[in-house]
Amino acid sequence: MKLPRLPLYTKILIGLLAGVVVGILANQLGFSDFVSNYIKPIGSAFIRLISMVVVPLVFASLLVGTTSLNDIRKLGRIGAKTVAYFLCTTTIAISLGLFLANVFRPGVGLSEEAQTRLIQNSSEQAGAPTETAVKRPTVKDILLNIIPTNPVQAFVEGRMLQIIFFALLTGICLSLIGSERSQPVIRFFEAINEVMVQMVHIIIKIAPYGVFALISAVIADFGLSILFLLLKYSAVVIAGLALHVTIVYSLAIRIFSKQKVRTFFKGIRPAQLIAFSSGSSSATLPVTMECTEKDLGVSREICSFALPLGATINMDGTALYQGVSAVFIAQVYGMGLTVTQQLIVVLTATLASIGTAGTPGAGVITLAIVLKSIGVPLEGIAIILGVERILDMCRSMVNVTGDASCAVVVASTEGELLVPAEAEAGVG
Ligand code: ASP
Repeated sequence: MKLPRLPLYTKILIGLLAGVVVGILANQLGFSDFVSNYIKPIGSAFIRLISMVVVPLVFASLLVGTTSLNDIRKLGRIGAKTVAYFLCTTTIAISLGLFLANVFRPGVGLSEEAQTRLIQNSSEQAGAPTETAVKRPTVKDILLNIIPTNPVQAFVEGRMLQIIFFALLTGICLSLIGSERSQPVIRFFEAINEVMVQMVHIIIKIAPYGVFALISAVIADFGLSILFLLLKYSAVVIAGLALHVTIVYSLAIRIFSKQKVRTFFKGIRPAQLIAFSSGSSSATLPVTMECTEKDLGVSREICSFALPLGATINMDGTALYQGVSAVFIAQVYGMGLTVTQQLIVVLTATLASIGTAGTPGAGVITLAIVLKSIGVPLEGIAIILGVERILDMCRSMVNVTGDASCAVVVASTEGELLVPAEAEAGVG
């Protein structure tokens, strides 16, 4: 079927809505197996295609980005602004999550029967994620793991933080050796970068079909009964995410940039929808880069630097979710959290969200770090697994929005924010 000439966002939205309808029908009429055998693979193919681009794109674009910010002082300034923005918005996100969870107390007042059912249900579903969560990484591991002992292994295993570390260092060293030596290498990676961007242009054409397939498969599988029990908790997480996006990012764009808030949200929509349907900010990165450069007018240098970094370490949605979840699980177990414990949540959830990979379900694993730090039973994670998938989709959408907002703010303060029309002419 050939869709008529519509903007990309509209096509993806149509794909998403059609996916919701097919998913609900499959769930109700009992043809979920058909969806998972014949429709889901289209979604998986789409995700594999964009994931394929991520490692070479991140390496080439960060390396080229670092060398093109050829003045080390400028690189340091942009790096400091980017990291400061990430840390501030992440802290706000967790605080907002904690505030909402304390006000609405989603885990308080469950009947004993509901509580038993949840805990029973969770032990049936616990399986792998809880086991993995128990083998949680420590903060020390997260920090040490940034340094690859073997860069080739980092590439093979797709370890993003290590790839970023190696790319930044290589870029800095290329700027330090003479240009006669460095130019051929830089030109080579510039070409690789162009090729990857071109590949994204092609892959993105099938995004509406990919999104359709992914959403219909999720909804076909999604049991609704557990949702009801966890409704208040899910509603608090989703409301928190919505508030964070509409208040924090809008204010940041309004205060620190010359861009209209509407232009920002309009430009980033395709990336948001892909993050929502894939549940992965890493896989969405190529699309986030395309939207941020082409539609939001952020210079390629800043996009190449801030976005790969953001997709790996900036996870506001995940941090907010971890804040709400920690309080919710504590409430279900009848534990009250003191102010000190909640401050520990702010600190550990910031670190945990930095250490969270931008892949589906990664946030639920690093949630273990947060729970452990305040003495809440890790088994509690299993209680929320029933709604994990849908919340993962929502928080991934917030994660990519946060990355793009950072790029716009940093570009604006550096005088590198073009008006979108100009940018579009440049990208062609
Ligand atoms: N799925 C999220 C992301 O890719 C990470 C998480 O699980 O919170 O952004």
